[in-house]
Amino acid sequence: MTRPSTPDRINADGSKTIKMKRACNGCGKHIGDVTDEEMAAAMNGRPLPDVRRECPACGPTAPPPVCMPTQIVEGGAYCVIRDCNHEVENDGDYCDQVSEKTVCATHSTFASGFEESYEVVTVSAPWPCTKGQVV
Ligand SMILES: [Zn+2]
Ligand SMILES: [Zn+2]
Ligand SMILES: [Zn+2]
Repeated sequence: MTRPSTPDRINADGSKTIKMKRACNGCGKHIGDVTDEEMAAAMNGRPLPDVRRECPACGPTAPPPVCMPTQIVEGGAYCVIRDCNHEVENDGDYCDQVSEKTVCATHSTFASGFEESYEVVTVSAPWPCTKGQVV
């Protein structure tokens, strides 16, 4: 799978449209457009996926993507935004029914959830992860 790389475009009014580029996390070279998934990861404070295997320079020698822990919360959607009907006794951000959990960001799959600013974990790989190597 090769990722598209959109060239910068000069608009009629002289302004420039630049598509954000993803830099290889091995050598720092740009390897193409930032994917929606990477944008979502950046916006949600998750580690960006390891892309060395997509890089022409690093690809041949790149090890499998390393596992990286990330925090998620587990609970009902309305509990997470504290808009549920439970009696809540804490002053935190979430309802008591919500628990924090660490999963492997590399081997979990995220999708945009309700209310746009939330993501949902569609496949979660528990931490410590057994699917790859930990640095
Ligand atoms: Zn590289
Ligand atoms: Zn993992
Ligand atoms: Zn609740």
